[in-house]
Amino acid sequence: MTDVREISKRPRPTGSPENALSRSYLAEKMRQLGMEVSEQAAPLPPESVERLSKWGASNAATAQLVNLIGVLPGRDRARPALLMMAHHDSVWESPGAPDDAAGVAASLEVVRALKARGTPERDVVVLLTDAEEIGLDGAEAFFQSHPLARRTGAVINMEARGGGGRTAMFETGRGNARWIDLYRRSVGRPSSNSLAVLIYELMPNNTDFTIPKKLGLPGFNFAFIGKAELYHSPAATAEALDQGSLQDMGDQALGVAAALAFASELPGSADNAVFGDVLGLFVVAYPAAMGWAILLAAAGLLGLAFARARRSGAVSFAELGGGVVTALALLAHSALILNVANRISGSAGGPNYYDRLAALPRLESQALLICLACLLLACIVVRPAARLLAAAPAAALLMLGLILGSANPLLLGLALASAVTAILSPGTAPAPGAGGSA
Ligand SMILES: [Zn+2]
Repeated sequence: MTDVREISKRPRPTGSPENALSRSYLAEKMRQLGMEVSEQAAPLPPESVERLSKWGASNAATAQLVNLIGVLPGRDRARPALLMMAHHDSVWESPGAPDDAAGVAASLEVVRALKARGTPERDVVVLLTDAEEIGLDGAEAFFQSHPLARRTGAVINMEARGGGGRTAMFETGRGNARWIDLYRRSVGRPSSNSLAVLIYELMPNNTDFTIPKKLGLPGFNFAFIGKAELYHSPAATAEALDQGSLQDMGDQALGVAAALAFASELPGSADNAVFGDVLGLFVVAYPAAMGWAILLAAAGLLGLAFARARRSGAVSFAELGGGVVTALALLAHSALILNVANRISGSAGGPNYYDRLAALPRLESQALLICLACLLLACIVVRPAARLLAAAPAAALLMLGLILGSANPLLLGLALASAVTAILSPGTAPAPGAGGSA
């Protein structure tokens, strides 16, 4: 925490005096750890200059990015090096204790811990990039032109998109089966699953890890995302940072870093694995093909159950179809309700992204209350006599959604799906003749 406190006293955007100040503090720390320290300066691309001047930097046009690089020599310097990466710059108005002073401090702490275990087999490089926040420019400059980039065999990146919560290993290189196996064996309290990896790949978000990953380099990307209100916020101070998250990041990074630094060979590339931690205790991993086999087996068993139930006359095809349509109606309505609730919370007015992040706890309780209200409503609503009336909730939600924002395809599609499935759904009305009324 000492390093986090020291460098996150003030914001340190690229080109600022604070950026240079924290860099010289970090260079001194690296020297004390016995590392060979150097800097790499590079010009900023035009888009980044524009961004910097939009933030209010008066020297944007002449500002340079400066990466800080430390090398802990290994026993065999010809072996591919292990690169630990974090960015030392922050956004304009945030002290950036979590993002990414935490990653910077964790990488130095990992080097200290590795050194205490002896001389690693390979060089351990700490790359503290600059200008991550304005466009991953420091990582780009390093992997494009620095001689050490060609000697890199594995990358561990550390990031934050919030100020707390567990640190997750949410991204790997391609063909990760052997790397997941190494993570499984070397991390005491794991937090990772292949679904998170898949979802992250589908999202437009980037970190410095994007650059080496594009070059086909393997490795691990770690980040914590709890306390989202601290993301790029002026309130992201060292005091606000959850120290447990920092410890968790250091623990997991040290686990894989030690396994890689002291191994005679790095794991090779293989197929992708399906994996997940079980309550943070251990990791279960298996080949993707086995996932399909499990799905097929489940489908087969369901089919068998239906065939037996049908033979005994307990259920018909029509009833099965009705059940499926009702389930789809529930799903479509849930999605429609969440979409409209999102509009009610003010999403249509082009709100500030960070304000929305800060409002997350309130938005979550709103969503919970809306869901509870719908559940209560569902309990008291009796199926209407006229089938068309079943589409009334979807129509009402659509109207509300349109009043609160524009007619986007998602809203229209969800409303249509909800209406159609509701009309086709057999519902839960008592069969004719059953029950009675006065
Ligand atoms: Zn960051």
